[in-house]
Amino acid sequence: MSKNVLIIYSELDGLHCECGNGEVRTGDGLTYKTFRYFWTDRGAKGKALGCCLKCNSDLQEPEHRVAPADKKADLLATFGQPAQ
Ligand SMILES: [Zn+2]
Repeated sequence: MSKNVLIIYSELDGLHCECGNGEVRTGDGLTYKTFRYFWTDRGAKGKALGCCLKCNSDLQEPEHRVAPADKKADLLATFGQPAQ
């Protein structure tokens, strides 16, 4: 198990991991191939939990972050704008 953190960048689609893995959901079920990601009803409001399958990170609630300015252009080119 790694301690890498899962990240959802505020202006970008998809899920990212500190190990460098990142993926946009695809297919009819909008699923990830390299992340496990699901909704749980645990807690008052429920929450999303996920883990990265590439570095085998701990199951966790993804952090919401603003994309770093120096990486934003690259991330946008790779992952695009979120669907409106
Ligand atoms: Zn990872």
